[in-house]
Amino acid sequence: MLNIVLFGPPGAGKGTQSQKLIARYNLVHLSTGDLLRSQIAQGTELGLRAKKLMDEGLLVPDEVVIGMIESQLANNTSAAGFIFDGFPRTVPQAESLDALTQRYNTGVTCMVALEVNEEELVTRLLERGKTSGRPDDQDETKIRKRVTVYNTETAQVAGYYATQGKFHALNGIGAIEDIFGQICAIIDRHQGAATSVTDSQEATDEVKA
Ligand code: AMP
Repeated sequence: MLNIVLFGPPGAGKGTQSQKLIARYNLVHLSTGDLLRSQIAQGTELGLRAKKLMDEGLLVPDEVVIGMIESQLANNTSAAGFIFDGFPRTVPQAESLDALTQRYNTGVTCMVALEVNEEELVTRLLERGKTSGRPDDQDETKIRKRVTVYNTETAQVAGYYATQGKFHALNGIGAIEDIFGQICAIIDRHQGAATSVTDSQEATDEVKA
């Protein structure tokens, strides 16, 4: 299975690149932000509680988003893999993702972080807010709050994957196609590495047999 964590601050281009990656690699897109917005749209109790935090640019509690990811994995057992977009955002979420994927004898293949400076993020999100209808995209103070939350709480997740040799950072400013090409090159390297380990293990097994 190919499980990609697409990482980066709000407005870095994760959603755009996710759409291209699901088409290229036949993956299921799991965005915790989208899942939460769907709960809000359905008017569920979870959605009502999450909305208050989301409107302030704060994180929703770990157990809420971990529970949503757990049920999405259970509902998509025949998927070729997943793109995790906006998840994990804390180290406990990253630890849970490892535990959840292990249940299916798989794990996170790699994390790709899109790096974009704060001023560019603010410009992009205010522009997106004109059409997205998202309250958290329409107020500069809330946007800056989300970037601060990313820098203080979420950026540590990069270290979690770096210690596993799975972390890659890319400049998220540039042509969408160029950035897409760079992400694919990283994924293909990881896939190639996984395949050659399997191949060499099979070759060893054949020799033993
Ligand atoms: P996004 O669509 O990824 O920008 O997420 C929008 C908002 O949803 C965030 O500002 C958080 O309030 C909440 N959210 C989304 N994903 C998570 C997550 N993994 N952990 C905590 N809160 C989240």
